[in-house]
Amino acid sequence: MNEFEIIEHFFRQAYPSSKGDLVLGIGDDAAIINVPNDSELVISMDTLVAGVHFFEDASAEDIAYKSLAVSLSDIASMGASPRWITLSLTLPEKNMTWIERFSSSFNALAKEYSLILIGGDLSKGPLAITVQVHGVSPKGKSLRRSGANVGDLIYVSGKLGAAAYALQYIQNSTSLPEPAASEKQRLHRPTPRVKTGVELRDVATSCIDISDGLLSDLGHILKASKVGAELNIADIPYSDSLKKIDKDLAIELALTGGDDYELCFTLTAGLPKDVLDELESICPVYCIGTITSKSAELLLMDENDEPYNIKTEAYRHF
Ligand code: ADP
Ligand code: MG
Repeated sequence: MNEFEIIEHFFRQAYPSSKGDLVLGIGDDAAIINVPNDSELVISMDTLVAGVHFFEDASAEDIAYKSLAVSLSDIASMGASPRWITLSLTLPEKNMTWIERFSSSFNALAKEYSLILIGGDLSKGPLAITVQVHGVSPKGKSLRRSGANVGDLIYVSGKLGAAAYALQYIQNSTSLPEPAASEKQRLHRPTPRVKTGVELRDVATSCIDISDGLLSDLGHILKASKVGAELNIADIPYSDSLKKIDKDLAIELALTGGDDYELCFTLTAGLPKDVLDELESICPVYCIGTITSKSAELLLMDENDEPYNIKTEAYRHF
């Protein structure tokens, strides 16, 4: 198979070439989309590089899943509905079995969210996957990091620390209890909180997805919103495997561990109960603290209401 046959066989055939707002999909020099008048286009791109973002021996299925899921998570944090995707694949060799496995996992996840692959690129080089997701929101409704107000309550979706614990276990398994398969899975197949994001766009004052760790990512909200925060360590939703390990390590993993892809968002205090019930019906959400007036300052409080100090920093690429 040559390059064009690969694209045709593994990708183009799985998607419509025109549908609704999509005027033209895969097959020309570029795709064409009609953005509805009352919508704004929300775009996000992520690259996953072998040996940096996933282990060299990771399965093609997991790589495909994660590369699409992390981009979907960014769109979710903006409160947008994901619609179209582009995919740039850089492969070291033309391995048909690998491409088959990659594409079936990628296309299955795309289908789950009714996404259409509308184009991409294929080139030779060290293994890297770039996914761009294009989403839409009603005009002016997309969420940002910058809207948190003093007195707002801080929430997270889902439980924290499973991905960081799974990574820790893989790297240092002898001294740690084995996490459940579902918890290990979180590292390779994070769940993008797409439905929660869409639900939040009418109620949240700010939102971000947790890719680098709660403290680091909440820090972005604080900086952008020019506010501070107080978090209660006892209210953090620890993932199940963290309940079996040393408490300080559990706190560190839940607060600074990356790769959870849960949403962290702020809500005005005193919202009607049905708003929270509606959110809860999609995925559990947990109130973990309050927005304060001390710009960019993040205070952690333990169960005795004493300040709690944490030792480590989130993962930084540079
Ligand atoms: P060009 O050389 O004009 O850039 P390409 O040969 O790269 O065109 O791509 C031909 C068509 O196939 C384009 O519509 C492009 O978006 C699509 N395409 C290329 N690679 C991929 C891919 N990995 N996944 C999906 N579509 C792709
Ligand atoms: Mg061209």
